Amino acid sequence: MIDKPMIFDSHCHYDDNAFDSDRQTLIPQLFSKSVDKMMHASTDINSAKFGIETAGKFDNFYTSVGLHPENLDGLCKDNIDDYLKNLFSLCKHKKVKAIGEIGLDYHYEGFDREFQMLVFEKQLQIAKDLSLPVIVHSRNATEDTMNILKHYQPKGVMHCFSGSADTANEIASLGMYIGFTGVLTFKNAKKAHKACTVMPIDKLLLETDCPYMAPEPFRGTRCDSSMIEKTAEAMAKDKQTTLQDILKITNENACRLFDI
Ligand SMILES: [Zn+2]
Repeated sequence: MIDKPMIFDSHCHYDDNAFDSDRQTLIPQLFSKSVDKMMHASTDINSAKFGIETAGKFDNFYTSVGLHPENLDGLCKDNIDDYLKNLFSLCKHKKVKAIGEIGLDYHYEGFDREFQMLVFEKQLQIAKDLSLPVIVHSRNATEDTMNILKHYQPKGVMHCFSGSADTANEIASLGMYIGFTGVLTFKNAKKAHKACTVMPIDKLLLETDCPYMAPEPFRGTRCDSSMIEKTAEAMAKDKQTTLQDILKITNENACRLFDI
């Protein structure tokens, strides 16, 4: 058990419907127990507005602004620039600390690979122009994601990492961070443990991606930031250190990356 708030949840979605009934009481409750800081991962303009509004209520709640590759419905080459202009005008707020989540998702059928790459690259350029780190989402798209990242060389984190140790090494060589979710606690997480083991400890972040990805023994239930302790225990084993150390180091890492 940990006695003071040390958890930095570097990737959460408290705007998700799963929190509709209790987010106003849940968030302060988490801050009063084990959670030190939270980074809201925005997925579109409404989500970014939620992040900024919530950041106004809680000192240690920060937000990103970005367009997720699964939220491109209704957008095309003709209107994307206007959308992004509106979206990134929100970055003037002082608690916007990252651009994200942005990236590529080839999981569902019917996606437009070219358009996803275009939107990803536009947002990487905006992050460069604004000198903000990026939160990268990549699903079934490692090769294209890595090629684009090698080209733009952003500061940032590959979130919800599920790739190989080789990919982890490539990300580390770009100077980027990796965020691990509850996946690290799953029984079949051999690949994740290998990646975690090879990654330099000062490039590791903890995240929930809540309400999804609850760690064992909560797997399948609604996840919240307090459950990160279980992921941290698994990470501590991989890095042969203590739970306290992992919480402290990942907190410092996230503060360094997001300039907090
Ligand atoms: Zn996410």
